[in-house]
Amino acid sequence: MIDTTNSPHVKLRSIPIGDCRWTEGFWADKFQQCQDVMIPYMGSLLKGDIGHGLNNFKIAAGMMEGKHQGFAWHDGDFFKWMEAAVYVYSINRDSSILEELDEILEIVAKVQEDDGYLHTQIQIENIGHFSNRKYHEMYNCGHLYTSACVHHRVTGKRNFLDIAIKNADLLYKLFQPRPKELCRFGFNQSQIMGLVELYRTTRDKRYLELAEIFINNRGQSEVVDDPSTEGYPIGDMVQERVPLREETEAVGHAVLALYYYAGAADVFAETGEKALIDALDRLWHNVCEQKMYVTGAVGQAHFGASTRRDKIEEGFLDAYLMPMATAYNETCANIANAMFNFRLLGIHGQSKYADIMELVAMNSALVGIGLGGKDYFYANPLRLNRGQRDYQDHRDCTESPIREPYIECFCCPPNLVRTIAKLSNWAYSLTDNGVAVNLFGGNRLETKLTDGSDFTLTQQSAYPFEGAIRFTVEKCRQRPIEILLRIPDWADGAKLLVNGSPMGINVEPGSFSKIERSWESGDTIELNLPMDVTLMKGHPLIEEVRNQAAIKVGPLVYCLESPDLPDDVRTLDVHLPSDIDLKKESDPELLGGITTLSGEVLVRSEQRQQMYGRLHDGQPWRTIQTRFVPYFAWSNRGEAEMTVFLPIVWSQRT
Ligand SMILES: [Zn+2]
Repeated sequence: MIDTTNSPHVKLRSIPIGDCRWTEGFWADKFQQCQDVMIPYMGSLLKGDIGHGLNNFKIAAGMMEGKHQGFAWHDGDFFKWMEAAVYVYSINRDSSILEELDEILEIVAKVQEDDGYLHTQIQIENIGHFSNRKYHEMYNCGHLYTSACVHHRVTGKRNFLDIAIKNADLLYKLFQPRPKELCRFGFNQSQIMGLVELYRTTRDKRYLELAEIFINNRGQSEVVDDPSTEGYPIGDMVQERVPLREETEAVGHAVLALYYYAGAADVFAETGEKALIDALDRLWHNVCEQKMYVTGAVGQAHFGASTRRDKIEEGFLDAYLMPMATAYNETCANIANAMFNFRLLGIHGQSKYADIMELVAMNSALVGIGLGGKDYFYANPLRLNRGQRDYQDHRDCTESPIREPYIECFCCPPNLVRTIAKLSNWAYSLTDNGVAVNLFGGNRLETKLTDGSDFTLTQQSAYPFEGAIRFTVEKCRQRPIEILLRIPDWADGAKLLVNGSPMGINVEPGSFSKIERSWESGDTIELNLPMDVTLMKGHPLIEEVRNQAAIKVGPLVYCLESPDLPDDVRTLDVHLPSDIDLKKESDPELLGGITTLSGEVLVRSEQRQQMYGRLHDGQPWRTIQTRFVPYFAWSNRGEAEMTVFLPIVWSQRT
């Protein structure tokens, strides 16, 4: 959660952490579960012998015998869990959370070396500092800084922040002179975001300067293997082939790319450099309009190559090359896409960025955790065909047909949990003269406007399963202020009433509707978003979904899952009549309480023996009744097949 209160180059500013809380409905339920189950469960993993996050610190501090366990970036993922706990504390003010964090921070401080260095694996295994970027030293630093800044802002305490400052001072000392041998350093560069946040928190300009150096370093070195790069592909994989300001295409590892862009957006918010935002706008267009899935997910492949022929992992392929069953779509990448969009929302003040934040949050992020809050997906494909993986040999811990209670590469679970924990802070922004409503759901905003006056607004809604949203102003200064309401790009026919009257306000999907007036306590705004069932098609250049459709209702993407099909029908056999009549049915007992879509689909047994066969193979068509469930809720009824897109059978040609 960034603090853009004093950032000179933003239009919409972040609200202080904890000023908005969910009160009822979808996100309130998720937050409650985050507080009661997700964070405590994850804590038991990370503080215990399975997750081993705290053990690594204890061993490095000399408090425990043992070996480092987990990947090199495990410290950073532990910091993310701590950050999630701070967001929950900002809402519930449960002092036991802080006490626990204090105990952990005491251990972390013991591990930190006198010069500020901190990385448990490298310290335990006596590896040279900054000797190889595969150790993710800066990834860990970045999460340390972000988490520490959030902790300081919420609690006023310095015990986390001081560790971050000491570490960042070391980074400044080493990297500010830009020594050639360190120019290619930084693998997954969350340190850029972290450094800007540390600048915002301390106002020490060196951290902003250093963040900019990490951007400027890219594209300056010859792309060849050397001892510091061993372990991972080089070049586009790590954003080092082309200087960011000249880049035209999103390439490489999707998380690395989007953390890098998000960090650059943070730098722009402070410096206002045109070349930087022009590059980020180009990259946004490439990511969100040419390489993004209908769920908001990004990162089409586990393994592949960039268009400039560098090997890549877990990353972007060509524009419109969108495999469904083998899509990688790491939960972290999807979240990073939302983080990048949240930053551009602040910079440009346009609602399209919040549309994507919501799309990600409700679909490709949330699918990363099971409905019980205790198991996780790392990769999030849009189709799962039973047996297909038999033809692949990934032998990797990150792709699994069902969610896992622990993933050895533990970056995604705490990233998702901290996102759920902080999401209420994304629901609103401050404008120069009022507030913007970015996300919907029952909540209460109690904040100060940019002039320091008190402002309280409540939102009541059963969104996303219903489209009626009611806002009530509880407290507002006497002079007029503006309230901007996001009208999602899918919301054709949205209606807006102020105190029951239309007031002639322009309501345009894909924009913010602006209501500027003197508000009195008790004034209401009613926003009615049409939650029609909509069949979605892809761009014709996406070969993988030619003549197929996905189903959306408002922001929710639906899918077909095998528990909703007869035993003898596979998802690959199911076709969608183009005039399908899907009935919404609210089912409070199913999958945590969802709205399903029921209707008749066409089924025809598809041959699966030969590579190619006759189209006219004599297989009969039949009609069956089935139902669709929200994509985020799939894989909670045992191992299953699933598909988001289905082939269309056109009922008419008009
Ligand atoms: Zn991840």
